[in-house]
Amino acid sequence: GNYTREEVLQMAEDEDVEFIRLQFTDMFGTLKNIAITARELPRALNNECVVDGSFIAGIAGEKEPDMYLYPDLDTFTILPWRPQQGKVARLLCDIYTPDGKPNERSSRYILERTAAMAEQKGYTCYIDPECEFFLFHTDDNGVPTTLTHEKAGYLDISPVDLGENARRDMVLNLEDMGMEIESSHHETAPAQHEIDFRCDEIRKMADHIMTFKMAVRTIAKRHGLHATFMPKPKVDANGSGMHIRFSLFKEGRNIFVDPKNPQELSEDAYYFVGGLLAHSREMAVITNPVVNSYKRLVPGYEAPTELTWTTNNQNSLIRIPGARGEHTGIELRSPDAAANPYLVFACCLAAGLDGIEKKTYPTKSSNRSMSESDQKAMNIGNLPENLCEAVEEFENSQWMKEILGKEFCEEYTAAKKKEWLRYTRQVTQWEIEEYLYRI
Ligand code: GLN
Ligand code: MG
Ligand code: MG
Ligand code: MG
Repeated sequence: GNYTREEVLQMAEDEDVEFIRLQFTDMFGTLKNIAITARELPRALNNECVVDGSFIAGIAGEKEPDMYLYPDLDTFTILPWRPQQGKVARLLCDIYTPDGKPNERSSRYILERTAAMAEQKGYTCYIDPECEFFLFHTDDNGVPTTLTHEKAGYLDISPVDLGENARRDMVLNLEDMGMEIESSHHETAPAQHEIDFRCDEIRKMADHIMTFKMAVRTIAKRHGLHATFMPKPKVDANGSGMHIRFSLFKEGRNIFVDPKNPQELSEDAYYFVGGLLAHSREMAVITNPVVNSYKRLVPGYEAPTELTWTTNNQNSLIRIPGARGEHTGIELRSPDAAANPYLVFACCLAAGLDGIEKKTYPTKSSNRSMSESDQKAMNIGNLPENLCEAVEEFENSQWMKEILGKEFCEEYTAAKKKEWLRYTRQVTQWEIEEYLYRI
């Protein structure tokens, strides 16, 4: 680790920190926290802080509701948007049971376990995500809307508007918190933005995404805007995705590289692609976890629909970007930012490694958009149509139970089935418009 217990205490004192937020992530990727005063910090660092897990998804133990927060010292960060006098810091925490064991359903632990399994085989995984989101207006009561006055599109430079100022502020704050931001730009839809990270080690990057979402939401609010990572807020505009680039290192070398191959891609790179493709349907409810996720995955909006890989096709699940050498990576295009990054990274790493182990060669490549009949002829698969189909695939997957644990899978499945049921029982605006007048 980077920091010792004494260093954290010292930093808190030097920086005049008044409150510390002990943060952790629930099963669905929601960041939770309890705040303590600086006086209580030594107790927290002794792993003595307790939360009642009963009401926290994926943490709860009915018999033993008390869960212990074990702060990860390396995640100590001052929240730069809070007051500069009487500062607020945060620590990300692991969740432990009263008998001192890691809670096996906690998503940060699941990722740690998967990354350790990879390390044992000599692999280190680096991740480079791109996060898209909308910045919408709030109404007179401060309630979020899906309205914007913006007209800008892909890479546009608009006359400085609220969104652009907010985005700049976000990048500055994230850099302040020690995150390296590679670039940011206006995305295709009006009011849609993207921030790209510099790659980092897998567990650290999952932490970064949690921090990122908290920062983006908070700073948007300060600019009078509402930031949303909802995958498809508007029917007739692009949705927001979270493309993820993976690269795999062994003995300090990027193993996706093979200069002798015409594409400069190694066999292992193809196998990793093969593994992602092979497991994409059963892990869809992890990469695309909400009802709304599947409304993004439709043709015509630069979102993936086909289970193919490509170097240039927006409809493909996987793209291999042009960068070569040490920067060679494989981009998975299906995930959205509604997903829990710890779980997404764990599943994807496991899928890729499974491809390498089984030498799964990806045969279905496509460098153009295919018509439905082409697709049929080539026997090309699709991602699940909706959350219901995705849950079924997940529930029937033995492999998912191996990666995430049986108990986790059962609790997750039950929750997602309920979500789907709640959704299907709604009477929607679409139905009113379609049927009220005609029937
Ligand atoms: N917004 C698109 C999606 O839903 C991606 C657009 C892009 O970055 N090419 O995935
Ligand atoms: Mg993009
Ligand atoms: Mg990047
Ligand atoms: Mg991309």
